[in-house]
Amino acid sequence: MSYPELKMLIAGDWVVGGAGKSEPVICPADGSEIGQVPHATTSDLDRALESSLEGFNVWRKMTPHSRQAVLEKAARLLEDRFEVNCTNLTREMGKPLAESKIEMQVAIDLLRWYAEEGKRVYGRIIPSRFPGMQHEARKVPVGPALAFVAWNFPATNVMRKVAGALAAGCSIIIKPSEETPATAVAIGTALMDAGLPAGVLNIVFGVPAQVSEHLLASTIPRKLSFTGSVPVGIHLQQLAAKNLIRCTMELGGHSPVMVFKDADIDAAAQLCTQGKFRNAGQVCISPTRFFIEESIHDQFLEAFKKHVEAVNIGNGLDAGVNMGPLVADRRLDIMEGFVSNAVSEGGELIVGGERVQSSGSFYQPTLLANVPDSAQIMTEEPFGPIAPTATFASLDEVIDRSNSLPFGLAAYAFTGSPKTAGVLKTEIESGMLAINSLHIHSVETPFGGLKNSGYGYEGGIEGLEAFLATKYSSEVYT
Ligand code: NAD
Repeated sequence: MSYPELKMLIAGDWVVGGAGKSEPVICPADGSEIGQVPHATTSDLDRALESSLEGFNVWRKMTPHSRQAVLEKAARLLEDRFEVNCTNLTREMGKPLAESKIEMQVAIDLLRWYAEEGKRVYGRIIPSRFPGMQHEARKVPVGPALAFVAWNFPATNVMRKVAGALAAGCSIIIKPSEETPATAVAIGTALMDAGLPAGVLNIVFGVPAQVSEHLLASTIPRKLSFTGSVPVGIHLQQLAAKNLIRCTMELGGHSPVMVFKDADIDAAAQLCTQGKFRNAGQVCISPTRFFIEESIHDQFLEAFKKHVEAVNIGNGLDAGVNMGPLVADRRLDIMEGFVSNAVSEGGELIVGGERVQSSGSFYQPTLLANVPDSAQIMTEEPFGPIAPTATFASLDEVIDRSNSLPFGLAAYAFTGSPKTAGVLKTEIESGMLAINSLHIHSVETPFGGLKNSGYGYEGGIEGLEAFLATKYSSEVYT
């Protein structure tokens, strides 16, 4: 089973790009080159734009039922190709195969859920104040869409955009990450094999800033959906503003976890370990600031330490591995900087704290205790396998500290008190909150942030709404 030859999907054809340029795809588990990802020229991008408009005019006129049939067929093809696609996802991104399988299954579920929900895009009749007149508001696909997505979830980051757009009746041009291209190509292949008309989906790769600048200068796209960091999100929104392209921004986070003394402490420590080291911490909703009530801090730390020490790192394709490498070497220096800064600010290193000597991009699962809020790791998104703890004395204090950053994506709390849970639901500034659990999203629930973590939603009916516009009409019928 080998890594596939990679091509771009432009106007219904799989192509290598006009200038024949490409860049290597590196396996982060051993540093080997596993493929070459082609780059689009500006004329390739122009063809993608034109075909996107043509595809839109075919796809929007099909019934939601016939669109659903195509998407359902693609979901079945992704099921048939599950093992090979999951193996390639682990090869290019590094996460353990078991996590790739969960991710791919969620991607398939997203496609099915959106495809079905596309049949329920209802409008409304508004009673008129004028006799003999009726008002109608109907939902229509917003137009050709554009998407740029990060590498950390090569299947679901792509599918959240593609399935939402297609189910709403939009066409979409997507630029997945050049670091994890095969998974996006596998999704595109399934959709084309299922009978998606040419131009409805275009997949391009290239130099990200050049691709986005060119595509967003066009008047064809009417929607931009981005998953990535806050600075790039702000930059893309500025480009989109020139043509008043509406945006959905799924950006970074720095999620607090509040553990209260009335929580089940061992269960919380175990769940925090699973949540923190999933995908080696490279998750926008990863728990990243562990605020523990003073009286239980030492007990929690001991339980947390025991679980962190049991995390088994290695090549994600090997059995028994539950944490893979970071996506690339560039992330290792960043981790080292976070740890040395935290220790210099007074934090204690409890577990890990070093890169692993190997050809892969491995960093040890790391636990730091009593880290002051002034440390870099408490203010900058870590996006890696480092868990810093700190203590708190009261509910008001932990709410203030949780809300103190510009981010507002996810938050978690462990408490046995319904009253505390109720206060957190109203006071915590984040788009998503999980209490006594780290499970914070499903395909049918709205996923999105507040503050600098972005705006707009994916998943749930809100995710479909993101690709719809409202058209109003009135009619005199007598
Ligand atoms: P990044 O913003 O640098 O890159 C994200 C993606 O955007 C990459 O594929 C990159 O190629 C592309 N990109 C970069 N500059 C671009 C440009 N000028 N034009 C078009 N595309 C461009 O972020 P990163 O550090 O690689 O990824 C991690 C970030 O993504 C974290 O901040 C994480 O929280 C965020 N993220 C958010 C969500 C969410 O749903 N909120 C999900 C996953 C990741």
